[in-house]
Amino acid sequence: TNLVLLGSGAREHALAWKLTQDGARVHVLPGNAGIPGSVPGISATDFPAIQQFCQEHEVKLIVVGPEAPLAAGVADYFAETDIRVFGPRKEAAVLESSKVWSKNFMRRHGVATGRSWTFRSDQLDQARATAAEQGGHVVLKYDGLAAGKGVWVCSSVAEFEQALQEMKALNPAGHDWYSFLVEEKLAGPEISIIGITDGKTMRLLAPSQDHKQLHAGDLGPNTGGMGAYCPVPFADDNVLASIREAIIEPTLSGLRTEGLPFLGFLYFGIMLTPAGPKLLEYNVRLGDPEAQVLLASLGSSLLEVIQGTLNGRLAEVGVRQKQGAFVGVVLASGGYPAAQFPTGFAIEGVEAVSPGTLVFQGGTKRNEAGQLVTSGGRVLTVVAHGHDLDLAVEHAYAEVKKITFQDAYYRTDIGQRPTPQLV
Ligand code: ATP
Repeated sequence: TNLVLLGSGAREHALAWKLTQDGARVHVLPGNAGIPGSVPGISATDFPAIQQFCQEHEVKLIVVGPEAPLAAGVADYFAETDIRVFGPRKEAAVLESSKVWSKNFMRRHGVATGRSWTFRSDQLDQARATAAEQGGHVVLKYDGLAAGKGVWVCSSVAEFEQALQEMKALNPAGHDWYSFLVEEKLAGPEISIIGITDGKTMRLLAPSQDHKQLHAGDLGPNTGGMGAYCPVPFADDNVLASIREAIIEPTLSGLRTEGLPFLGFLYFGIMLTPAGPKLLEYNVRLGDPEAQVLLASLGSSLLEVIQGTLNGRLAEVGVRQKQGAFVGVVLASGGYPAAQFPTGFAIEGVEAVSPGTLVFQGGTKRNEAGQLVTSGGRVLTVVAHGHDLDLAVEHAYAEVKKITFQDAYYRTDIGQRPTPQLV
């Protein structure tokens, strides 16, 4: 099968690696220096250019990595053609692209989630009053795609006020108003549950956990994700059964009731609170860096699962996980996630990793001399396997040390959170 994969990060490298293993010929638009089959000239949101590429290369299947092409309507654009898109249409991608819409959807269908209040930007005083009633223990969420920068977890009225000011700066020039949510602040361990669905059946990948903060101990600013691991030992069958009942089943029946066709990856960001699992958010695609460990751990053919989904036969296709644990550590550029940091540093040692270790490249390019150099914040993800989580962690860090570039930064505690006490 000849296919086009849209995107350019380490998540897309992992998708391309997996689909190639499954026997596909993968063209990555635009991809990056580390992903074989990359076509640098074509942007993932330039639909006419993508269509022309598909026609020239006899491609009939497009797999989508990031949210931007989905929110821009890639599945709608190709709906009238003979090219199939693995990803939801724009009307269903709103589950991710609007936090207010998705919260209302959760409420309409009884999906377990925190209490919340919706405001418009001309109702800041009402929002302040609500936050004050909660003692400032609230989460402020901007209603739009903000690349992980639209959420503020507050512990005081002063922090909430600061968050309101920062949110104003997110609103693009020319938009005179915006909506936002004030949400009850929940507590408990977080897990990522990612499924593949045709809107009727949901096949779950292993439960995983990411590490969003820059520094060990979950300190420092939020990033796109500094590492991930799977499976999550405390997400046992009981926990997964309660998640299915409280979150996944009501979501599927909600999609059906509203006649919203959904096709593709569906990501549930979940907090295990003392009152049961609660949904924080949906994403309509794989998470990054969760994808890097999930795809490494997937024992079945992803290509078959995707084809089964597109043909409405997902119920007949099994999804098997490999034994053991997988840990992915992100190597980032020093200075990330600030707006600017130096790049262009030579990367050494990618070829030195042991067989079986995977290096998925995100922010890399080749300079004029053909040398692999850094070009972004999250440069690459090193994924290693072990018979259990501790062994996988040990293995991953031994491999990480083989790869060097100036000012390289990584967290030293991926996969080593203390086991939470679940009540
Ligand atoms: P992503 O980058 O994963 O798409 P996002 O910016 O869209 O994230 P959320 O996942 O909704 O937003 O929130 C980001 C983080 O904020 C969560 O991982 C969680 O740690 C925290 N958070 C969100 N909602 C709550 C809540 N109600 N109570 C406590 N913490 C929360």
